[in-house]
Order: sequence, then C-alpha cells, then structure tokens
Amino acid sequence: MATRIQNIAVIGAGTMGNGIAHVAAQAGYPVTLIDLSQELLERGLDTIRRNLDRQVAKGRLEAADSAAIMERISPDTDIKRVVGSQLVIEAASERTDLKLDLFGELDRICPDETMLASNTSSISINRLAKATGRPARVIGMHFMNPVPVMKLVEVIRGRETDDDTHRAVTALATDMGKTPVTVNDAPGFVSNRILLPMINEAVFCLYEGVAEKEAIDQVMTVGMAHPMGPLTLADLIGLDTCLAVMQVLHTDLADDKYRPCPLLEELVAEGKLGRKSGHGFYDYD
Ligand code: NAD
Repeated sequence: MATRIQNIAVIGAGTMGNGIAHVAAQAGYPVTLIDLSQELLERGLDTIRRNLDRQVAKGRLEAADSAAIMERISPDTDIKRVVGSQLVIEAASERTDLKLDLFGELDRICPDETMLASNTSSISINRLAKATGRPARVIGMHFMNPVPVMKLVEVIRGRETDDDTHRAVTALATDMGKTPVTVNDAPGFVSNRILLPMINEAVFCLYEGVAEKEAIDQVMTVGMAHPMGPLTLADLIGLDTCLAVMQVLHTDLADDKYRPCPLLEELVAEGKLGRKSGHGFYDYD
C-alpha cells in the first residue's frame, strides 16, 4: 500500500534543518526537530520565528497561523523521538562518517518501513543506503538554501530506492510548495556538480589576486544576472559545507579540476564559516 506521510522528523536544526522544519510545519505536518543540544535547538527555533515574523510583516501569513506553525515543531535532543515519523530527513553537518553513523543508528531505532532521506549536498545516497538494512527506503531530498524561499528539491534516487519512497517524497515536496526534480546518484548530484566548481573558481580568482571580492561578485551579478555573487553565496551556504562538497567531488570523481582552493581551506581552518559564524569572505553582524 502507498505510504502516506503524516509525521516528519528532521535531524539537525542548523541552516538547512530549521528551514526544512519550517516549510514542513507550514505545510501542516507535525515535525520532530533533533539536534545535539538545547542551545542549538533554540537557535534553530529562533531563526524559524524570525523568518515567520518576516512573512507576517509582509502580509503573507496571519500571526495566528505563525503561532500554529511553531506549535507543530517539537524540538528534542533525543534521537529516539523520531520513531513514529514515516519520514526522517537528515540535515546534519556534511561529514561522511557522521552521516554513516546516523543512518546506521536511524536504521536500528526506526520501524522497517520508515523512509530515511538525506539533505546531503554531495555524499553518495547509495553509500548512506548501505549503512542501513533498508536501502529501498533511502533517498536524497536536497533542499536549496534558504529553504523557505527556494523552490527546488533535488530528489536523488539511489540504486535500490523503491517506487513507494520516491513517490511519497516527491508528493511531499510538492505539498510543501516545492518543485521536485529527480536525478540519479553521483557526486554532487546535478546542482553541486555545477554550482560548487563555479564558487571554487571564484575563490581561486580572489586567491590569485585576479580581482577584489566585490568585483568578482559584481561580474557575476551584473554580468551574468546571478541574484548574488559567488562569494556572497558561499558565505550563505557556509564555507565548511562548500569545502566538504569540493572534497567529495575531488575524491569521488578523482579529477584535480575539483581541487578545493587553498584559501577556502584556510578560512575554514580559521573558523570563518560565512554568515553562520559572522565572518567569511564578508563580515556579518
Ligand atoms: P549547519 O552546520 O548549519 O547545521 C548542521 C547541524 O547539524 C548543526 O546544528 C549540528 O549541531 C547538527 N548535528 C551534527 N551532528 C548531529 C547529530 N549527530 N545529531 C543531530 N544533529 C547533529 O549545516 P547546514 O548548512 O544546515 O547543512 C546540513 C546539511 O544540508 C549538510 O549535509 C549540507 O551539505 C546540506 N545542505 C546545505 C546547504 C547550504 O546551503 N548550507 C544547501 C543544501 C544542502
């Protein structure tokens, strides 16, 4: 019988996880939101509240609806609370070892039919599926940043993903007001196979003194009609996430054209992660 998703769990309340929880709750789904500490959960909830307030201020949402959306989100530090959700969307940090461990743990604690999705930017869905005993129920659900604004969900079918999981996740994305586009499993999928090398090249331009950061961004906004420049976008994505994706492309495609720029590595080593840490290519309040 076709699975109907009624409850959703999201692992990670960071940049992406809080956005996914926001749009899922806004679409009417009860959401269990998991992170490592109460403080991280509070930070995620604050971001959702701020983004909802902005929607209310613009007249796109009633204040009462905003309160109801917040009430649908149950924050918790205990991962076992995901049991009871038909779909778990993993949006933890972009580290292969961490995600493999998480998929192994989710497989142990969730009933066999629970679907496990990853919001990974680049890590192989087949590899994550292999960490579980349910590869047919594992899929990629790659939201774009900022989640409440961006329409695309790149749906990544693993080798063994079954039709029920693919159909349920695609229907869910549509119900959330998104446009799902299905692709096959490959490093970086389609989105980051194209986007991240472009960003990395912009970082090389800065590193090699080809131009100032503002000029690099302006060439791409004014000249190529991109809504924001690649260095501004890298700060929005998170420089650690950008570096992690380049490392996956470099290793998995075994081609030096994907070598991460040393400047990107330096900034991440210094803890300059972009907007989320207050400093990246630009400074933020
Ligand atoms: P982030 O650093 O903002 O947030 C990650 C969160 O995961 C943190 O709050 C962290 O505490 C939490 N976390 C780590 N280990 C955990 C665990 N074991 N259990 C529960 N929570 C845990 O990162 P992000 O930018 O939100 O990225 C999350 C995922 O989404 C990554 O796979 C990333 O590649 C992907 N992604 C990011 C973007 C983007 O633009 N930032 C876009 C699309 C996809």
